[in-house]
Amino acid sequence: PHMEGIDINDVLRESYSFIEKEALFNNVKVQLDLNPNLPMVQSDRAQLQQVFLNLMDNALDAVGQGGRVRVSSQADGAWLTVKVSDSGPGVPADLAGRIFDPFFTTKDPGQGTGLGLSISHSIMQRLGGSLELENHPGQGATFVARLPNSPPDT
Ligand code: ADP
Ligand code: MG
Repeated sequence: PHMEGIDINDVLRESYSFIEKEALFNNVKVQLDLNPNLPMVQSDRAQLQQVFLNLMDNALDAVGQGGRVRVSSQADGAWLTVKVSDSGPGVPADLAGRIFDPFFTTKDPGQGTGLGLSISHSIMQRLGGSLELENHPGQGATFVARLPNSPPDT
């Protein structure tokens, strides 16, 4: 990874700028709840961009017309935490264990490769963090990405 000092909120705003048009077009309200007092973090900007974009993209797909997505950042102890929550259907309980598997997709051919979450999960691990699903079947999904406040020793 290419480590540099970055402002996570900057990366989140940039990721949002890529999906903004699609959100407006689909009448999806995206709320950015970014804590302004986050410490800078040593991490890989381009790779985080890829993770956040994929989570936002998935959230848009999940909610459809008129849905809601909330993106938040916060610092708690040793971790910086980014959450992407949506008002979609959540992940069916019997499929939740497979969403991080490569090529697992429930989307139509051409709509999804099933690689986004698998790649995002690997990226977060390589950066010394994690990516988890907090699933609320019937009420939406929350993806929680964590990064260490201090970088992994690699
Ligand atoms: P893709 O988006 O190409 O299908 P991903 O790896 O990004 O691949 O996601 C894998 C699968 O996980 C999706 O096809 C979908 O079934 C499920 N999923 C991902 N994000 C959400 C979400 N926010 N709400 C419900 N299901 C989701
Ligand atoms: Mg995806």
